[in-house]
Amino acid sequence: MAKPQLPAEYKVFGMLQTPIWIYQLDPFTLLWANTAAVALGPDATLSAHLSRLSQHQPEIWVQRLAHYRLRLSQGQTIQETASNQGCDQGCKTPMNWVGSGLSLADGSLGLVVEGQPLAGATKAVIDQASTHRAMVEAPRSVVAKAALHQQAETLQAIFDNIPLMLSIFDAQGQVEYINQAMEAELGWSLAEWQQQDLMAACYPDPAYRQQVLEHIHQASGDWLDWQTYTAAGHVIDIAWAHLRLSDGRIIGIGQNIGDRKRIEAKFKQQAQRDRLIAQVTQRISQSLELQDILDKAVFGLRQILAAHRVLVYALDVTCGGRVVAESVSDGYPFIQGRVIVDHCFSPNRPILDEYRHGRCQITADIYTSGLADCYVNALAQIKVRANLVIPIIQDERVWGLLACQQCDRPRHWQPSEIDMLTQMAHHLAIAIQQAELYHKLQHLATHDKLTGLPNRRYFDDYLEQEWRRLSREQAPLGLIFCDIDYFKQYNDTYGHLAGDDCLVLVAQVITRSIKRAADLTARYGGEEFAVILPNTDMDGVIRAAQRIRREIEAVNIPHRTSLIKPHLTLSMGLASWHPDLSLTPNTLKSMADQALYQAKQGGRDRYCLPSPSPP
Ligand code: GH3
Ligand code: MG
Ligand code: MG
Repeated sequence: MAKPQLPAEYKVFGMLQTPIWIYQLDPFTLLWANTAAVALGPDATLSAHLSRLSQHQPEIWVQRLAHYRLRLSQGQTIQETASNQGCDQGCKTPMNWVGSGLSLADGSLGLVVEGQPLAGATKAVIDQASTHRAMVEAPRSVVAKAALHQQAETLQAIFDNIPLMLSIFDAQGQVEYINQAMEAELGWSLAEWQQQDLMAACYPDPAYRQQVLEHIHQASGDWLDWQTYTAAGHVIDIAWAHLRLSDGRIIGIGQNIGDRKRIEAKFKQQAQRDRLIAQVTQRISQSLELQDILDKAVFGLRQILAAHRVLVYALDVTCGGRVVAESVSDGYPFIQGRVIVDHCFSPNRPILDEYRHGRCQITADIYTSGLADCYVNALAQIKVRANLVIPIIQDERVWGLLACQQCDRPRHWQPSEIDMLTQMAHHLAIAIQQAELYHKLQHLATHDKLTGLPNRRYFDDYLEQEWRRLSREQAPLGLIFCDIDYFKQYNDTYGHLAGDDCLVLVAQVITRSIKRAADLTARYGGEEFAVILPNTDMDGVIRAAQRIRREIEAVNIPHRTSLIKPHLTLSMGLASWHPDLSLTPNTLKSMADQALYQAKQGGRDRYCLPSPSPP
């Protein structure tokens, strides 16, 4: 008779280490055995046991089979124990068997037996099983148990290795379980959690602790960040979520978010800094005034770096330089304008070369950085303790230095701070270059190339500005027009180049005859010069004209073809007027022009005043 096929669905049964036998009931025959069962030998089978039983007590064997049939058909299990009495010499493995019903492929009733070897036999079984693993078919109960076991093992592996803290509270709120991550992170073992009130240790503030406990109890699944004390007394930021299981237990999931918080804070700080840098950069690039650029840069940088002093030191061509801009905290010496002579900065010194190649001087503490004594003393005098110096490089030349200083304590400059200052030095170099270029162009547009004096355009602007200012102040504005006498002859006699030299000389003579800072000498035209004298009445203008005449005479420039003197002379037209916004500066100009005309008419080499009534 062919053996009935086992049902196909049992083919998916996993590997089991306990011995399994499968029987058909009618007739009672062994159909299958797994490796662990085979390893136990034929004497260990239920059939061997039963046949031994039938030899000794044949009437029981028949009853027993009937009993099995009944129980299995009712879906119940059977249990057998191999007794010592029932076991022959050959039976080496005393055994508990548990049997379940199994529907075979032909519809007949089968029996699956799981053997549980008693102590002593276990190791042999396991050893065997692990060396000869085999797929066997097993009943649902056995598979379910195996699956559950596997599930538990999987969960345990997850719990132990997941980088999250896990804890389980029983329905009474007592800690029942914590995983390895929680033990490692907080520093308490499960036993300690169970023996002590560690919630009080984790959350020492009672009100805060109450909130935490409420959050746990709610078990809403929401994540909340709690500042949690560890066994070592550190505070760490942990995000916790709690969930209630169906049996009333609560599972807590925690994540150390300290790193995240630190990174967030760093990003925030960086973003804030970037915004400030952008602001400062924008401000300095909007300005074309060098001093304005430098002032804005040092002020902005001191705020951003929270330093005591930020300064710009401009190198000169010799061996030193000047502090040209400074922002300093209250209570520390103000050194803007100070000239610092440093022979290290004399041309061709290696330090300049190093700066040119991007060297920075990073000093966390002047007393421990191995600086030369003279530097330490110089820095100590202005109360510097930590110093960060970045070169401002322009066209491969060190224009100056940008320094950031901490005064009250040493300071370890962060790479980001060094980067930032370096970037700023780069922006400054560009802004300085732009400002210098702008000033060069502006100078070109407003100054005369030959004499270096302000040109007529500059003269007109300045006259207009002073006209307005003095009309508000109600003070007089003086003007002198000077014209060289017989200059055409001079050129004809000495040549045009000599004529140019003569113009340069006359420009210098007039300029040096003019004393006040607000006075302005301009080249008005070819051989004509104009002098603006703010806050000067006619007496003052006359004195200025006399000084010019005296100086010109003293210089005694030969002019042998002049029709009046053997040396160069000037004719001058003078004017002084109280500006009035109902008139324009042209009023003053025409008065001086008319007076100059008078001087020429009157024989040259003289000054004239305008006629008494204004034109
Ligand atoms: P007057 O006494 O009437 O002022 O006679 P002048 O010869 O000085 O006046 P005029 O206006 O006839 O001639 C001015 C001369 O100045 C003519 C011109 O060549 C000369 N001149 C003007 N600008 C320059 C310059 O930049 N360089 C030189 N070398 N000569 C100049
Ligand atoms: Mg002229
Ligand atoms: Mg002339």
